[in-house]
Amino acid sequence: MKILNPATGAVIADIPEDGAFAVRRKYERARAAQPAWAATPIKKRVAAIRAFRERVVAKHDALARTLTQEVGKPIRQSKNELNGLLKRIDFFVTEAARVLRDEKVYADEKQRLEERISHEPLGVIANISAWNYPYFVGSNVFVPALLAGNAVLYKPSEFATLTGRHIAETFHEAGIPADVFIAVIGSKAAGAALLRQPIDGVFFTGSYATGAKIGAAAGRKMIKVQLELGGKDPVYVCDDVDIRVAAAGIADGAFYNTGQSCCSVERIYVHEKIHDAFVAAFVAEVKGYKVGDPMHETTYIGPITRRPQLEVLRHQVADAKRKGAKLLTGGDVIRRKGNWFEPTVFVNVDHRMALMRDESFGPIIGIQKVKDDSEAIGLMNDSEYGLTAGVYTPDEKRARRILSRVHAGSAYWNCCDRVSPRLPWSGVGHSGIGLTLSTYGIQTFTRPKAWHLSGV
Ligand code: NAD
Repeated sequence: MKILNPATGAVIADIPEDGAFAVRRKYERARAAQPAWAATPIKKRVAAIRAFRERVVAKHDALARTLTQEVGKPIRQSKNELNGLLKRIDFFVTEAARVLRDEKVYADEKQRLEERISHEPLGVIANISAWNYPYFVGSNVFVPALLAGNAVLYKPSEFATLTGRHIAETFHEAGIPADVFIAVIGSKAAGAALLRQPIDGVFFTGSYATGAKIGAAAGRKMIKVQLELGGKDPVYVCDDVDIRVAAAGIADGAFYNTGQSCCSVERIYVHEKIHDAFVAAFVAEVKGYKVGDPMHETTYIGPITRRPQLEVLRHQVADAKRKGAKLLTGGDVIRRKGNWFEPTVFVNVDHRMALMRDESFGPIIGIQKVKDDSEAIGLMNDSEYGLTAGVYTPDEKRARRILSRVHAGSAYWNCCDRVSPRLPWSGVGHSGIGLTLSTYGIQTFTRPKAWHLSGV
């Protein structure tokens, strides 16, 4: 498997992919190791995850450089991702023991009857992951899964393989047994081979198209399935905002990570009263973004990680233009080595256009004028996806009224493109099933066992 630098197209590594036999062996090792890990006291499991955190801190800059090299993420954003990882670990290690403790839910002294719930690990779980935030989306799964006593077969995306190997090495340096966390290396075939093993759960992060296949394959196994999929996340800008502040915040939400985030802002609706002023401020902001070598500290827009995505972006541009959209900036690939696309802004867009319906996953956005809140709500809900939705207004009541009617896993008032370890991360419709993060996102790696204890 050749690992390419998306900023230059150069081969940076050539490593062997796991075949079906290797995947089987890895599964058997994990299965054999899991009971001892589950029997390890929670305090020791927490200590091992804390040691992992320390190793991440020690290797911070080197890990960030690898991520930037293979994914193309601007280096400052790679460092931000690693800093965010530390905060997620802090949340999980603080909460795990309390959340995983047995619960006494009923006691009848007279009849000497007691009812309890214990949180048993699922067993051996598969984590098939995405490349765009390998530390974030990976740690949402593997950290709480390990804390809960599971063994993890982690398949990083083929576009973040070196990072996946670093994660495995770092766990092992921290004292997590080599067979309790195992990286499965490869692309679609390795993922499919992993799914053929008698695993106890599959936790997937990636596109709707792949998620649908994984859900179908896992359905027959009667195991826990969680799918964290794509989005077409809308933001509505009301007529009473501070235009400059809103434009800067929303542009960052749309273009951070070069638009390659599941919760990137992908559609903007603006009240007609402020539409033109907002668009002017927004375009000025986007034109100020520094595009270039992702290894430079000042770069904001890097390359597109997966080359085929350039075609998706080109198609959305051509389709939008054909249907009457007006291009204000960008609109084409950047002709240099590697995979590059200009930061692109369209107005006069509508929902006939792929730009406003299909996940773009790149530095491109459409802004649509609306006449009132109710038109905005209708358009925000006109999507198969439902990951996040945001509203910008100083009026909290108005924001709450709008957000309570929007179908999305996360609702944002005067913010966007934000994830918190304390809140559940989930999607509606094609954005997925199940959840990660929050205390629910620890318990999700367990099976609640019901204990009916009669002392007579
Ligand atoms: P992808 O679906 O192409 O690949 C995801 C993973 O699935 C990879 O590891 C890939 O090797 C594996 N895979 C592909 N086909 C498979 C098969 N048939 N069987 C088993 N495994 C298979 O997605 P991607 O390009 O890595 O990630 C981008 C997508 O992920 C976007 O849609 C994005 O919105 C979504 N995403 C969602 C979240 C979230 O939290 N909801 C977070 C990050 C990314």
